[in-house]
Amino acid sequence: MLRIFIILILFGCGKEDSHYINPTLNSYVQNFLERANAHKRNTLSFANVLSIDFCYAEENNRGICVVKEKTSKIKGTNIEVSKTINKYVCIDPEISEIPFDYVYVLYHELGHCVFDENHNDVEGTLMFKTFQFDHDDPEVMLDDYFKSGL
Ligand SMILES: [Zn+2]
Repeated sequence: MLRIFIILILFGCGKEDSHYINPTLNSYVQNFLERANAHKRNTLSFANVLSIDFCYAEENNRGICVVKEKTSKIKGTNIEVSKTINKYVCIDPEISEIPFDYVYVLYHELGHCVFDENHNDVEGTLMFKTFQFDHDDPEVMLDDYFKSGL
């Protein structure tokens, strides 16, 4: 009886498993994955990212990585039968006119959503809390990001 219940829940979760990537962002997302793989970074969390799109983030944020966790328990008990983590990346459409800017914001948010990185205190790096667009050498910055998660 219990086994049937679990299978039904897993089947139910599988239905939500459709991903959306905005066509404008798609080549940058693919490039992100290629570079991540080339640096042997773990990209398993990418499977939990259900949507990557332009949308308005809260307040002054240029982008956001939203994480939603859902735990299913057996009714009337505390026994967990499944846990789903759904993530959503949102990039401010107002910066979409400047490809390099939104690529940096996109990579920053994928750093949160895919690499599970937090912000750092190293100015000029991609995961710095207030990202600055006028970096001297973007390739060096991207290299640091993929090599060491900065
Ligand atoms: Zn951030």
